[in-house]
Amino acid sequence: MKIRAVYPGSFDPITNGHIYIAERAAAIFDEVIVSVLINERKNAAFSVNERCEMARETLSHVKNIKVDSFNGLLADYVRQQEASVIIRGLRAMSDFEYEFQMALMNRKLAPEVETFFIVTDPRYSYVSSSSVREIFHFGGTVQDFVPEVVFNKLRELYTKHT
Ligand code: ADP
Repeated sequence: MKIRAVYPGSFDPITNGHIYIAERAAAIFDEVIVSVLINERKNAAFSVNERCEMARETLSHVKNIKVDSFNGLLADYVRQQEASVIIRGLRAMSDFEYEFQMALMNRKLAPEVETFFIVTDPRYSYVSSSSVREIFHFGGTVQDFVPEVVFNKLRELYTKHT
């Protein structure tokens, strides 16, 4: 039986930390769906289409990864996709509390689905989409944290706004 996993997140934008987790998940599971959350409440820097496009481009080298988007309950989406695993990345203890709570809630909503945590590489343990956006905005170097495609999109975004 093929095991399909969903890696959900805001990916606003996708970073090398996300890519690392997606690649490792793809080495374990038959199929990984990197799924961009359409979050109407949270003000995203990039549109859902842009976020998906960046994820698609930067993960195109991994054949068993597909990029999609979703809104509503993750548990419903995972079932709809006939997946049985949710992938989440862990950077530090500070991620743990939130992730643990979410995993328990998802277990309550979809007991047949397992949340699978992958620990990040130390190079990315302090990398987040929001820190990348902020550092870029204030003129800092982010090339070690995001692929070139994303770097170029950040440049476009911030020249549009200045
Ligand atoms: P969310 O808004 O759902 O937290 P993110 O895009 O910020 O969405 O993150 C999606 C998942 O990727 C989360 O499990 C998060 O902990 C993980 N993640 C984010 N940045 C990194 C990183 N640098 N290394 C490993 N995992 C990461």
